[in-house]
Amino acid sequence: MSSRDQRHRQARALAEAAAAYQAAAVIPHCAVCTKPCCRLDPLVLELDWVQLKGLWQIDEPRRAFDRRLCAGRGPEEIRAADGLYFAHGKVCPAYDEVGHSCRVYGQDLKPSGCSDFPVYEDGGAIIADLRCEAVDLEALVAWMVRALGPGYRIVQTPDEAFPFLVTLEVRRVAR
Ligand code: SF4
Ligand code: SF4
Repeated sequence: MSSRDQRHRQARALAEAAAAYQAAAVIPHCAVCTKPCCRLDPLVLELDWVQLKGLWQIDEPRRAFDRRLCAGRGPEEIRAADGLYFAHGKVCPAYDEVGHSCRVYGQDLKPSGCSDFPVYEDGGAIIADLRCEAVDLEALVAWMVRALGPGYRIVQTPDEAFPFLVTLEVRRVAR
């Protein structure tokens, strides 16, 4: 197998491990979470126009909405940049505060960042966002090692600017 194939295979194994960790350790905690990420504080939600329009139930054309936003008459929690929209500081309209659940779960309207948070594969490593109280770094590392099989170790590197973001890289154990 070429090294490129090996990298792809490893990335796929990591993505599957991240999804399985989320399903086993994170999602069951969401119902009792004390700081739900869907309140968008401190998290920022990235959306495209279709998602923003659907979630915020905007019934005007995009150009009109952008003009309104630019003039300071749009939803105060929305900012626009580089063709995308960013929501922060107010509960996501799709969040059910009573049921502690997402009303667009499993639908296209749900932004991909919601599914990625707090543990996801990126560029052959796993990124863990410790702002989620359900993430246990030690347990996650053990989970990754189990998923990859023997012969690997995990190196943890917190982001310099945002130390709650930790990159978990896979290294082969020297023989
Ligand atoms: S912060 Fe973590 S545990 Fe809390 S609601 Fe979000 S994903 Fe679930
Ligand atoms: S779309 Fe759903 S998962 Fe994403 S922030 Fe809103 S309620 Fe939470």
